[in-house]
Amino acid sequence: MALATRYTDMKFQPGAKLAPDANLSDVATERGIEFFLVAFVDLKGVLRTKMVPASAIKQIQRDGAGFAPAATHLDFGPHAADMIAKPDASTLLQVPFQPELAVVMGDCYIEGKEVLQSPRAVLRKQIAALQKRGYVFKTGVEAEFFLLAPQSKDKPLAVSDEGDSLSKPCYDAQSMMRRYALLTDIVCTLNKCGFGVYQTDHEDANGQFEINWQYQDCMTTADQHIFFKWAVKTLAERHGFVATFMPKPFSTFSGNGCHIHCSMWAGEKNVFEGANGDLSEIARHFLGGVLAKAPAYCVITNPVVNSYKRLNSSPTGSGCAWSPNRVSWSGNNRSHMVRIPEGDRFELRLADGAANPYLLQATMMAAGMWGMDTKADPQGCYFPSSVNMYEIPDGAPELKNIASLPRNLLDAIRELEADKDLAASLGEDFMVAFLKLQKLEWAEFMAHLSSFEVDRTVNC
Ligand code: ADP
Ligand code: MG
Ligand code: MG
Ligand code: MG
Ligand code: MG
Repeated sequence: MALATRYTDMKFQPGAKLAPDANLSDVATERGIEFFLVAFVDLKGVLRTKMVPASAIKQIQRDGAGFAPAATHLDFGPHAADMIAKPDASTLLQVPFQPELAVVMGDCYIEGKEVLQSPRAVLRKQIAALQKRGYVFKTGVEAEFFLLAPQSKDKPLAVSDEGDSLSKPCYDAQSMMRRYALLTDIVCTLNKCGFGVYQTDHEDANGQFEINWQYQDCMTTADQHIFFKWAVKTLAERHGFVATFMPKPFSTFSGNGCHIHCSMWAGEKNVFEGANGDLSEIARHFLGGVLAKAPAYCVITNPVVNSYKRLNSSPTGSGCAWSPNRVSWSGNNRSHMVRIPEGDRFELRLADGAANPYLLQATMMAAGMWGMDTKADPQGCYFPSSVNMYEIPDGAPELKNIASLPRNLLDAIRELEADKDLAASLGEDFMVAFLKLQKLEWAEFMAHLSSFEVDRTVNC
């Protein structure tokens, strides 16, 4: 099928964002939508949904779609009253590869009260706090993923393309062409949904790809990010593959990062843009907060046991793991946790593919606003662009004031637990629920007997 004609049966016009209370029943008739996925995201980043036929959307838009909250990761017991997800029509995305279907994100309520630990609510709180200061946070994410062969229980993970075997596979045109049909399906899908994709590439690991689209206000980016993950995984399955955003699926390959680029706006003005191509003073304070609080929020941006195998990684077969080990920044230099590609934005390279799209944005804002309020100074973590951070050994004198990132999930949990500033900003409901779930994750990991320890210890 010629690309230009792909999905032309859709009445949907890309970029047409609805009002939050637009009548979804009328929209269904206008656009030929027969089913809605009314969705929310839980604390572990799982997209939860009820499929609602267009004939019932009027009532669901009024009353919300019902869920048993204990059946999701939001820290409720089975006795909790029903939770509803009330659709926010402004998030509606008609699905180009299934045009009678549309996805709409919902906001979570129990007995009329917003569920404050639900990720969209956590982000909305930060957006309101920044709005009070007169600013809008705009971001773009780079959600890397691997395409794997279909999985079965006893089979080790393997990339889907055996021919994708260069030792330095980044930008490899041949491996890209072997996945052309799937990748262009994904890009057409995103563009029909108004994402404004501007490039796709083969990334630094065999079987790994990245698709980049236009930055937006942080809530739109978060909604797009979760839709992106859903669309990539769904389309990959339809093409006979499995897409994974797992932080470090292969120990000898680079992992799946989820870099985030950010800027801050007052109307049409990007206030991160300083003079002479440097960051502005307010951007430096924001950055100072993002740096100072990184060990504390790492458990949010890097939320699983496996995350800590991407961080603190030794070099991979390609020559470099591209993930940070320490809290440092520089100019246009990818060996540091923060990079400044241009003087009107910065890139946080810490987060990974397991990061919750909403919590990722909220956390960065909480840390950045703390930095603005305290006039945090990033200078102590600065390195000249000529420095390759991977070449500086532990214990070197220039690392005297440089913090390390947590080495494992438990250390990361303890760092967040000890930080009262982020707790105050992110809110008690979120902190209690999130820390509880993270501690449970660690406890379950510790209860698991691995082949490593059996092999190493059985003959002791
Ligand atoms: P790289 O791989 O060099 O880090 P990419 O091109 O893969 O960069 O991704 C850059 C991301 O940054 C994109 O999502 C892009 O839209 C976003 N971006 C560009 N300019 C800004 C800006 N001023 N504010 C926020 N995000 C931005
Ligand atoms: Mg039932
Ligand atoms: Mg990129
Ligand atoms: Mg990348
Ligand atoms: Mg990047």
